[in-house]
Amino acid sequence: MATGLSKESTSNQDFLRRLPAKNRILGSDWLIPYTQKISTHRIQVLIDEALEEVRREIRKQNTWLDPQKKIMATLDAELAKGLQRVINVTGIPLHTNLGRAPLGDAVLQAILEVTKGYSNLEYDLLEGQRGSRHTHVEEPLRAITGASGAMVVNNNAAAVYLMLVALAKGKEVIISRGELVEIGGSFRIPDVMQQSGAILHEVGSTNKTHLADYEAAINENTAMILKVHQSNFRMRGFTSAPPLESLRTLAQKHQILLGVDLGSGVMIDLTKYGVLDEPTVPYYIDAGMDIVTFSGDKLLGGPQAGLVVGREDLIAKLKKHPMARALRVDKMTLAGLHATLSLYLDGKAMQEIPLLAMLSQSQEVLRARCEHLATQLQGVGEVTVRSVSSFVGGGSAPDQGLPSYVVAISLHEHLDAFARCLRQRRPAVVGVISHNAYHMDPRTLFPEQEEELIRAVLSCAKDSGYANF
Ligand SMILES: *Cc1c(COP(=O)(O)O)cnc(C)c1O
Repeated sequence: MATGLSKESTSNQDFLRRLPAKNRILGSDWLIPYTQKISTHRIQVLIDEALEEVRREIRKQNTWLDPQKKIMATLDAELAKGLQRVINVTGIPLHTNLGRAPLGDAVLQAILEVTKGYSNLEYDLLEGQRGSRHTHVEEPLRAITGASGAMVVNNNAAAVYLMLVALAKGKEVIISRGELVEIGGSFRIPDVMQQSGAILHEVGSTNKTHLADYEAAINENTAMILKVHQSNFRMRGFTSAPPLESLRTLAQKHQILLGVDLGSGVMIDLTKYGVLDEPTVPYYIDAGMDIVTFSGDKLLGGPQAGLVVGREDLIAKLKKHPMARALRVDKMTLAGLHATLSLYLDGKAMQEIPLLAMLSQSQEVLRARCEHLATQLQGVGEVTVRSVSSFVGGGSAPDQGLPSYVVAISLHEHLDAFARCLRQRRPAVVGVISHNAYHMDPRTLFPEQEEELIRAVLSCAKDSGYANF
């Protein structure tokens, strides 16, 4: 070490000596905001790391480096790590990266009530003996969907897997080539099928699959025909698939199962709100499907979960399968899901499920909210209200935009720095850069977040060097 130092230029040694001691840094005013959010021990570790990095850079570059800048960058990176609140102004209500469906007050209240103390999670209060965790949401799911059986697992990927492993392991499952879907880069129907031990039997072509294709594929080892909803893409042009009714008849004739991986579990027809081509779960049950799987946190608007509804005898097989235990949900999910389903049964879903309330906001309301925001942001670059097309997200209605409005802030070359500053705020703000402007869509902004958003925008406009106020 001593020989290493002696090789350094005198200026280098001066720079290194000028670096403040850790104790002096710990007393700095600029550190106070961090000390409120990061533990003292962790701050000390991070300051040590940052100082070491600054020393290395000084030796390498032979120039003075400001340690405060480096330390702040290190601490900012630490703050960005933990799971935390984000103000979503992307306008995408089912943003998978931002946690999909937000939960409303009634649902949070139910989770709090059930999990704060003990609950009858697996206890039958009438009989005073062991019960089943499945019973809690079974009844409301049956009532809403019309199915005779229902079950809940960790997510829809788990639901599809359990359905296949319990009902089709070692047997063939027929799927149209147009439905071998990949969702979010890690869920692929052929891969899940392989893991389950079911044998994929592809039929038809990418754009057209006929009833005769399905029929020709059926043999004595066929367990199921599986329909997979084209959640995150749509096919246009010359396409065709047999109507559900004829698939139903075919499956019945050959005594095989007809299953659907629906992805988004929409319960109420949302066509009038502009969400097209997303048939409801009750529609599929009514059309005679044996088993249907979907997510709890997509268009249903609840917590992450995988829901399976369909014939009671099939659901019973899923519940008994050894994998069911590995895929089961906890009491928080069950409490949240139960409360979400109750809102549907009570006719309060459109108002009280935040996701559905967001989707049903009228264009006039969105425009008025934009104008209100815009007046409070005057002076931050050029602020305008633009009409745009926003998306539902989360593998729902992928190709069709909802007419919407955004507040657009033009900041010229400062745009990226502005967006970065907003992401690093607490709470973080995530919007969209589009057409040389920062777009903020009020559809996904909760009214109680408006003040925070305005403060963040004003502060970041200043920080990124652009504000004419
Ligand atoms: C979203 C989706 C899945 C995966 O659901 P998760 O709840 O995210 O596990 C599977 N299949 C389809 C068709 C989907 O849309």
